[in-house]
Amino acid sequence: MTLKRILVTGGAGFIGSHLCARLVAAGHHVLCLDNFFTGRRENIEQLFSSGRFELLERDVCAPINVDIDEIYNLACPASPVHYQVDPVQTTQTCVMGAIRVLEVAQKCGARVLQASTSEVYGDPLVHPQPESYCGNVSTVGPRACYDEGKRCAETLFFDYHRQYDVAIKVARIFNTYGPTMLAGDGRVVSNFIMQALKGDPLTVYGHGSQTRSFCYVDDLVEGLVRFMATDADITGPLNLGNPAEISMLQLAELIISMVGSGSVIAYRPLPEDDPVQRQPDISYASEIINWQPTEELRSGLEKTIAYFKCRY
Ligand code: NAD
Ligand code: UDP
Repeated sequence: MTLKRILVTGGAGFIGSHLCARLVAAGHHVLCLDNFFTGRRENIEQLFSSGRFELLERDVCAPINVDIDEIYNLACPASPVHYQVDPVQTTQTCVMGAIRVLEVAQKCGARVLQASTSEVYGDPLVHPQPESYCGNVSTVGPRACYDEGKRCAETLFFDYHRQYDVAIKVARIFNTYGPTMLAGDGRVVSNFIMQALKGDPLTVYGHGSQTRSFCYVDDLVEGLVRFMATDADITGPLNLGNPAEISMLQLAELIISMVGSGSVIAYRPLPEDDPVQRQPDISYASEIINWQPTEELRSGLEKTIAYFKCRY
């Protein structure tokens, strides 16, 4: 295997830190670019001792001047609570960040992988969602800063590919969970686990009938790495996620029983534009990278609960 210099933007965040650890362990030299908006130093602290890990503490929207073989562009808050705090900044991070990493890729002849999202499908009218589905997205709602920002980033990736021959990979990531998620970031898995551990009510939004499909972070990272290694003509978009679908009420009940908590369910208003259902069609990933998730929800949740138990 050729050892590479790899830039991971958003490398101090949840998925980014797992990806950096995986790449460093494989012997690569990793540059982590992060402004610590939602990332944490403790997520990456243990990687410095390898001698093959560097931190560039800065905004992805600023010009990036590095010599690099590959780029994974993950810089962007992923939780609705965080990406809605400063929606203008979120769109800017998606769009300007994409331009910055594409500029570097063009200059260095590097491959660049975009962490896109199932949110490009919005509140989908096709189920499960194949890559060919163009989505049902509001351009004006509270999620639009993220959804439309990510859609525009995909457009930029494909235009840099067509116009400047940049080698791109666009991965559409579905809900991912696991250790190093932020306890207070508002995402459903971390919220429910923390509430169950504290004995607080689990806040189910709406009736809890909306569904999501949760992928354990190690499976997702495996998918990203395999995708990056595909032939240059394979650009995606490529769905990466676990097709096992569950309603939010079922998830709440599962977490209460796994934690052995006395917590009750508390119903709260459904946020605006909250997608009703979501499940990836991963037949393309299965075909081109021979990938499918291996971690069952229950065992992935066990590891995630253990992580939160130790830390909070
Ligand atoms: P996260 O919030 O934990 O990580 C994002 C990282 O990007 C953080 O370290 C943050 O500090 C950094 N960041 C944010 N804005 C930045 C900026 N302007 N400049 C530099 N760094 C910046 O989120 P995550 O769950 O690890 O998500 C990582 C990527 O994967 C995101 O691009 C997200 O859109 C995508 N994604 C995640 C999921 C999921 O379920 N976790 C699903 C779909 C897509
Ligand atoms: N959700 C919930 N209770 C919470 C947090 C989230 O019922 O405390 C719901 C939310 O309305 C959504 C689902 O869980 O339907 C997933 O939310 P999350 O923010 O984790 O991800 P996303 O909506 O971006 O898929």
